Amino acid sequence: MKKKETPAPLALPEELKVTEIAMIDEVFTITAHSTRSAPCCPLCGIPAQRFHSHYFRRITDLPSGGKRVCLRVLVRKCFCDVSTCARKIFAERLTPFVAPLARVTARLFQVVQALGLATGGMPGARLAQRLGIKTSWMTVLRRIMALPTGPIQQVIELGIDDFAFRRGRKYGTILVDMRSHRVIDILPDRSAETAAAWIAAHPEIELVSRDRGGDYASAAKTAAPQAVQCADRFHVLVRRIGAYSILFGERGG
Ligand SMILES: [Zn+2]
Repeated sequence: MKKKETPAPLALPEELKVTEIAMIDEVFTITAHSTRSAPCCPLCGIPAQRFHSHYFRRITDLPSGGKRVCLRVLVRKCFCDVSTCARKIFAERLTPFVAPLARVTARLFQVVQALGLATGGMPGARLAQRLGIKTSWMTVLRRIMALPTGPIQQVIELGIDDFAFRRGRKYGTILVDMRSHRVIDILPDRSAETAAAWIAAHPEIELVSRDRGGDYASAAKTAAPQAVQCADRFHVLVRRIGAYSILFGERGG
């Protein structure tokens, strides 16, 4: 098949060289390989000197024009010849574009996560289907539960609201750093006790933005009496967090 340069709209990483684009069963199937000279061993970090074999790794990416996109990336397997390294053979990695062992790109992962947060979980799967993303509500839920990944830093202005894992059946609590506009934690329920325990562990909080209901207000009053409380500011921002900050990696000030 005729070779093509990487189309800009796909915004694939520079180190991925596209060799073929085909429409197979209504799926954009893009064949590519890495142009990195020598993959590094994931254990010791030393570049490989010898290649073992290669295979095609299939990865689903963001849809294009309403069509699903599947990447077929030729991945090399290499020997690690470092005598002190426990890994003898390894497959080259495509991070950060694709996490190790993942079947979807990081950006597709983040979009499904954002859809779940913005829609309250289950409806995110239906919306995803409309956008050409094949997923299930369980996957949406797993993406949400993958948050957060890092330790929670100091939070001065806290946004708190409930969140539907399964609408009408199971609810949790979302906690947002109102300054950075980032989700910083998800609690397994929406009780005042759970929220209060979390808030009490953060005496640096100066402002709590919450809904007009009583549970979070009482939690904040009990656990952070030093903090000013305000209602509804979180709800204005949550749309921005769900639809913009996570989706497009925006970082607020
Ligand atoms: Zn090694």
